[in-house]
Amino acid sequence: MKVSHALNKLLNIVYTYLKYNEYLGFQFKSASEIRLFQEKKLKSILKIAVNKVPYYKPYKSKIDFENFSLNELQKLPVVNKDLIRANPTNFIREDKDIKNLRWKSTSGSSGEPFKVPKNYFSDAIEVILGYRAWSFGKFDYKLRAPAIVIRSFSPKEGEPIYKRDIIRNFWYLSPYHINEVYLPIFLEVFNKSRSKVLKGYPSSVYILTLLLKKQGIKLPQIQTIITSSETMLPKYRRVIEAYWQCDVLDWYGQNERTITAQQCAYGSYHNNDDYGICELDEENNIIATSLNNDIMPLLRYQTNDKAIPLQHENIRCKCGRQMTIPFKGIEGRQDDILYKQGKQAIPTINFYNLMEKFQNIKQFYILQEEDLSITMDISENEPLTQLDLDNLKAGINQRLGDVPLTINVVKNIPRNKQTDKVKIIESKVKV
Ligand SMILES: [Zn+2]
Repeated sequence: MKVSHALNKLLNIVYTYLKYNEYLGFQFKSASEIRLFQEKKLKSILKIAVNKVPYYKPYKSKIDFENFSLNELQKLPVVNKDLIRANPTNFIREDKDIKNLRWKSTSGSSGEPFKVPKNYFSDAIEVILGYRAWSFGKFDYKLRAPAIVIRSFSPKEGEPIYKRDIIRNFWYLSPYHINEVYLPIFLEVFNKSRSKVLKGYPSSVYILTLLLKKQGIKLPQIQTIITSSETMLPKYRRVIEAYWQCDVLDWYGQNERTITAQQCAYGSYHNNDDYGICELDEENNIIATSLNNDIMPLLRYQTNDKAIPLQHENIRCKCGRQMTIPFKGIEGRQDDILYKQGKQAIPTINFYNLMEKFQNIKQFYILQEEDLSITMDISENEPLTQLDLDNLKAGINQRLGDVPLTINVVKNIPRNKQTDKVKIIESKVKV
């Protein structure tokens, strides 16, 4: 590792400790204080963009820095990954030496790789917001409180199925090994770590919950569960909440580090307003602006994620926080959307509602090919009857029309080895 990178790592740890209380306090600021804070940060990023970033230079005369408000952002176009990938240096500050930058790669399971340079304290800010998310439930935790983490870890054959990150005090358990054979190791780690926080993918927490339930084991020590990176299905949430009886808070973010949002104990997704600005376009795509990235300013960046819009704007959350609530929930990535005959997109929530009717289905995976045909894999809690399968087929045809449909009952829905996640819906349809 280069000396400058080692120093950066160290200074990011220092920054985490110095800044944590300030970030923690931000969640209780008033709406006007939050707006002022955002205006200041946006103004500084836009000044850098129009003076030093080739793509944004033509907008210098258009932005009113004298009477600046958040509305100035609307003068800039929406940009997307393809546009940036075609000419990345056009989007990076001219006064930065590209060879010395540190990068964050996006790990998407499909599409070409894409990487974004990180601003100096980017890693620390991720860690800080990760810890702050825990305080959105009923309980407060100190920085470096222990947490069990069932994600982002795939041990190789023969390696231990847990590892410790001492700096963050995370106790990782493999999401690939949640079964009867390894359960004693899981229980030992819960016990030893004394964690009150459990972090994971919705699917990994769900599978663990089913296993513990089946074995009649209770783990009352857990007070807060944080899920992220996959769709939180209503079925998952119901099973998880009923068993653990604690706050189950979902988190949304992307690898590009533009915006993040997390649920509070009342279920609202609060945008981290000190981190980014979130807009929805007319098709409810999330358009994100980073308030931190001053190396490659990502301004009005099309994330390819679709939100479930709010029914009422400007709702006040019962939790008392005035951090904005940009959407009701996340529908999925754009490549998670299914299409009916005629290539009309169908909201995935329709399928989640359909799957709710089949309590004996443990997990499912729907793949739509380019010709719109559907292959569906399902795993069972209890054996499905022929009537269940017929009803499932009828339900899918009702939503997608008369597309070719194959249903396979499988033992397990596997995790993707590249991304670690379990995809629920995958579409190869080009629109
Ligand atoms: Zn709230």
